[in-house]
Amino acid sequence: MPIKYKLRKNDPVVVISGKNKKTVSKILELDKEKGQVVVENVNVVKRHTRPNQTNPDGGIIEKNMPFSISNVMYHCPKCNTGVRLGIKVLDNGKKVRYCKKCSEVIDKA
Ligand SMILES: [Zn+2]
Repeated sequence: MPIKYKLRKNDPVVVISGKNKKTVSKILELDKEKGQVVVENVNVVKRHTRPNQTNPDGGIIEKNMPFSISNVMYHCPKCNTGVRLGIKVLDNGKKVRYCKKCSEVIDKA
């Protein structure tokens, strides 16, 4: 399986472009087909809604909208910045991701 995107759901990420630049958050949804991510509190759109069955009072709904995966990088807690990830194979054959900057292994073996 080709590993085009090394990011996964629930990964901590930092936004590297746009109005939310430098925001550190986490991935809520990841769509590899479209190359898009939904990141918590980033690209939030407020929608005014009329009362309906699911929301009888109507009002404002805040929704995290998807955007290009290329606008985020993995946020390494050790480096405290956005980093590129590498993949390495452990002695037990398991593939784990690591920070290319500090070499810290991200996935628990
Ligand atoms: Zn690091």
